[in-house]
Amino acid sequence: MHSTMPDTPLTIARILRYGTTVHASSRVSTWNGTGFDSRSYAEVGERAARLAHALRDRLGVRPGTRVGSEQGVVGTLMWNNTRHLELFVAVPAMGAVLHTLNWRMPADQLLYTIGHAGDEVIIVDAGLTESLAPVLARLPETVRHIIVAGHGGREALSGFTGEVHDYEELISDHPGDYPWEERLDERAAATICYTTGTTGKPKGVVYSHRSIFLHCLQVLSPSHYDMSPHDTLFPIASMFHVIGWGIPHTAFFTGADLLLPDRFTKAESLARMIDKGRPTFSAAVPTVWSSLLEELDTRTYDTESLRRAYVGGSACPPALMAAYRDRHSIELLHGWGMTETMGLVSAAVPPRGADADEEWAYRVSQGRFPPSVEFRLVGPDGALVPCDGVATGELQLRGPEVTCAYHGGDEAAWVRPAENFTADGWLRTGDVGAITANGYLRLTDRVKDVIKSGGEFISSVGLENTLMEHSAVIEAAVIAVPDDRWGERPLATVSLRHNGIDPAELRDFLAERLDAWMVPERWAVLPAVPKTSVGKYDKRAIRDQYVQGLLP
Ligand code: ADP
Repeated sequence: MHSTMPDTPLTIARILRYGTTVHASSRVSTWNGTGFDSRSYAEVGERAARLAHALRDRLGVRPGTRVGSEQGVVGTLMWNNTRHLELFVAVPAMGAVLHTLNWRMPADQLLYTIGHAGDEVIIVDAGLTESLAPVLARLPETVRHIIVAGHGGREALSGFTGEVHDYEELISDHPGDYPWEERLDERAAATICYTTGTTGKPKGVVYSHRSIFLHCLQVLSPSHYDMSPHDTLFPIASMFHVIGWGIPHTAFFTGADLLLPDRFTKAESLARMIDKGRPTFSAAVPTVWSSLLEELDTRTYDTESLRRAYVGGSACPPALMAAYRDRHSIELLHGWGMTETMGLVSAAVPPRGADADEEWAYRVSQGRFPPSVEFRLVGPDGALVPCDGVATGELQLRGPEVTCAYHGGDEAAWVRPAENFTADGWLRTGDVGAITANGYLRLTDRVKDVIKSGGEFISSVGLENTLMEHSAVIEAAVIAVPDDRWGERPLATVSLRHNGIDPAELRDFLAERLDAWMVPERWAVLPAVPKTSVGKYDKRAIRDQYVQGLLP
C-alpha cells in the first residue's frame, strides 16, 4: 500500500518563511558593547530577501535545486550576530550553500577550507578582516567577491584582486521579498562545516536541508533543549561551530527570541548580557562555563532568568555542574556531539522516577540519543559490546543526522576513510564509553586520549573530573606521555586559583579518591591550559609542548 502523504520537502526555505511570518514579532538582539541592537524576525526576513537578490542577481551566486546540481558556495567569517543570522537562512533558502568559516583556525587551515569547499563569495565582519589578510594572496580563483559587514577593516583587504563590497550598500537596492526555493530537494546541500582539525586536516561535513530540519525538531523537544516561544535563547557557542549547535535555526521554529554576543565573549561581557538581556537558555563548551563561573562568583549579576543551559563539546566536569546548580540555581544540561552529528545529538535529561542520587548520575552522563540515531559499541576486536552500563567500546552511530562520508572537494562527492566509517556505513566517533540498558551514554575517553599504563587504561577525563573537584583548580587537562617502564603515564596540566598551591597537594587529593597507580607523577602548572578554536582543551598543543621539552 502506498502512503497517502506527500513528500513535501523539509527545507530551510520553510523554516525562513515560517519564522519570519508566524513569528514576525520575535526579536534577535546583538550586543554592541554596552547594550543590544535589536530587529524583529520580520525585518530579518526582509533583509534576507534583499541579500539573496544581491547574491544571485548582482554577484552571480548560482542557486541549485537538485542533489548534485551546481550550487554557489558562500563563506561567512563572522561572529554571532544578526547579519550572520540573515545569512544562515538566506543562503540555503535561495538554494546556495552556506560555509561557516572558523576565524580562529590557523591561516593555512582556513585557506584549505575555503578552497576545498569552493567558496565564491566571502562575507566577513569588519573586525575580522585581519584574519583574512594572511591568506588573501593565496585565495583560490573561485573567490571573486568579499563583502564586508560593518564599519572599517577595509585596509586589511587591499591585497585582494577581486571585488570588495559593503554589506549594507550591496543589499540596499533590492526588493524585500524573494521567491525562496520551497521546492528544493530536501536532500540538497544546505551548509558545510569543517571539523576543527584537532586530529588532522579539517574534514568537511555537508548538511542537507532535511538533516537540519529534523535536527531542529529533535533538539527543541522536551527530551532535549525543551524550547518554547517563551524562551530567550543565548547561544554562546560560535555560529561557525556546527551551525551554532542548531540554535539559530531552531529559534525560527519556536519564535523564541535570540540574544547574540557578537565579538564580546569574555566572561565579564557574557555576565552583563545575561544581566541585561535576561535569557532563559544558553549553550557553550565547558571552558566558557568555567570562566563565567569565576565571574559570577566574584561580582554580583542578576542571572535569575537563566535556569537552563546546555554544555557539551567536551566532557563537563560534574564539579562544574554542581557549582552552577548550588551557587547560581542554573542547571547545566550535558550533551554529546560532533561536527559529524550536526552538533549535540544527545542530552542528559534524567528518566522519569529517578531519585535524587540516580538523577545526578544521569545528569553527569552524556545523555540519550533521539530515536532517529542508531547507536552501538564496538570492542577492539570488532565484536559488539553489550549496552549494560559497564562494558566499554567505541561509540558508533548511524542516522539521518549522522554523516556517512566527508566532502571530497574537487576529487569526489564523498570520501569515506576507514578510520572514520565502517564498511557497513556507521560513523566511528573515536570516543570510548558505556551505554546503559535504558540508553544513557557515559564516555570514558577519546580513543586517542586514553592513557595505556602497564597494560591498564587510565581515563584522562576521569582524572580531569576529579581534579576539578579541588577548589584551587580552574582548568585541568591530562595527556599520555611515553614512559620507559609503563609504556605511557599521565601528565596533568592545570591552571590554579591560588598560585601558591603545590602540585603535591593535588597528588594527595587524587590519591585519596583514585587508585594510587592512576595518580600522575608529572605536573605542569600553567597560566591557562591551551584551547582549540572552539574553546576545548587542545591536547595536541599540550603534546607538542611536551615533545619540545616545554613541560616536565
Ligand atoms: P573536532 O572534532 O573538530 O575537534 P567536534 O566539535 O566535532 O570538533 O568534536 C567532537 C568531539 O568532542 C567528540 O568526538 C567528543 O570526543 C567530544 N565531545 C563532545 N561532547 C562531549 C561530551 N559531552 N563529553 C565528552 N566529550 C565530548
